[in-house]
Amino acid sequence: MSALSTMPMRLVGDRFELVPAQSAFGCLLRLTRLNQLNSADFRSFFGLYVRRDDDLHHVLATSPSRRQAMAAALKLELPNTWDPAIWKPYREHQVPSAVTTPLRYCVACIRLGYHCHVHQLPWISHCPWHGVNLRTNCPRCDGSLAMTSGAGRKLLTCSCGMDLLNESAAARLSRPVEGAERYLDTYLTWAQTMRHCQILVGTPPEVPSSHALSQLVQLPATLRRPESAPSPTPARAYQRELPSERLSPAEDARRMMGLRDAVPRMLHLPRFMENGCASVVREIALTLPPGSLSPRERTFFLGMVAEENEEPLRPQASAVVCSLPPLAMGDQRFLNLQSVHPVCARFLVHLEDAFAIDVPGLAAGLRKQTLGLLRRVQCDVLCRNYSEGLRAILARYVPQLYAGHKRRLQLTVPLALARLDGNPCVWVAFASMSTYEDANDLLTASAGLKWTQPRGK
Ligand SMILES: [Zn+2]
Ligand SMILES: [Zn+2]
Repeated sequence: MSALSTMPMRLVGDRFELVPAQSAFGCLLRLTRLNQLNSADFRSFFGLYVRRDDDLHHVLATSPSRRQAMAAALKLELPNTWDPAIWKPYREHQVPSAVTTPLRYCVACIRLGYHCHVHQLPWISHCPWHGVNLRTNCPRCDGSLAMTSGAGRKLLTCSCGMDLLNESAAARLSRPVEGAERYLDTYLTWAQTMRHCQILVGTPPEVPSSHALSQLVQLPATLRRPESAPSPTPARAYQRELPSERLSPAEDARRMMGLRDAVPRMLHLPRFMENGCASVVREIALTLPPGSLSPRERTFFLGMVAEENEEPLRPQASAVVCSLPPLAMGDQRFLNLQSVHPVCARFLVHLEDAFAIDVPGLAAGLRKQTLGLLRRVQCDVLCRNYSEGLRAILARYVPQLYAGHKRRLQLTVPLALARLDGNPCVWVAFASMSTYEDANDLLTASAGLKWTQPRGK
């Protein structure tokens, strides 16, 4: 970053070489605090038009035009490190953009007026050079820090009196923090390399949760701090492809097209998904409380040999329950997609598209390998969401399933990180579903669960 030599007036704290890869918010913070600027100065000094309640970190992290305006006002060449995208070790496919997390900081760095995007990354929990835990709120009272121009107090102060910044220490800063430059160089080179081969695949409008991202991204040993414990629930890693005898590439692709309908209703199950779906149905039927299914429903779930000694609690079969297991027509299987949330169906399509995206340097032999890997992940994700959907719908008909098993009725949304290089791997994490945007049977069923008391209570 060049010094502000062409500015008519020098500002205290404008030697940005002392704060390597400082974020745009970090620059604003440093100059505002060290020069006692107030919100009325934001326009003249930073070219920023902001509302009094705009979170300044959020504004600068999500708006390229505001970053551009600020760089122009400061007579800087737009620093590439202001762009959150260059900190991501992946490209994004079907991930909502302009998403940011609340300001995260290192107490030792922020004391000197230094904030860097590396502190925002969900897969980094400790300041890479100080080793201290990164935080979001006031370290004394956990209250909110002043992040807006209209807060009525200095930026990054708390109503309890805590001030994260030490103005004199920040002004006296004479060289970059030990180890920061080396780490940032290594990190940014690694992230750039990974962007060539890693793709994050999501399902808008679901915003990837920080927790899921921290499970997915694997830092190399050279960039990990000893303090940061590995995630207690790491994402599931897929490296082995499905055996080729279970795949019929052209026919599988044709059947998977069924998921691309505007409202997918029925999926002609590709062979590679048949066993998985049958196991889901069987496992659920066998773990239901005895007598939960009527004799006819049991036949649909478990086949012709479905005998049970218990007196059925529900002698009458429900047409909905009977339609949940895959429908057999000869040796073909058809899955009624009412029990698979549309978000999952779309994710399977997005994943397929992400694999089709040209990855530079990926050899032809590897494409065959990645197809087997793609199909394995699709099969597993479908089975998991099918299982959740089955339970959500069944809970309406089999209240015993609801009692004592609330957690099982949670619907989840998948997020995947695919590394498509010479050693392909896909990591998949699941987060609770937060957005329902498609009205369908499953949605009604799962929404109803929140308030419907099981019968018999
Ligand atoms: Zn630090
Ligand atoms: Zn406080």
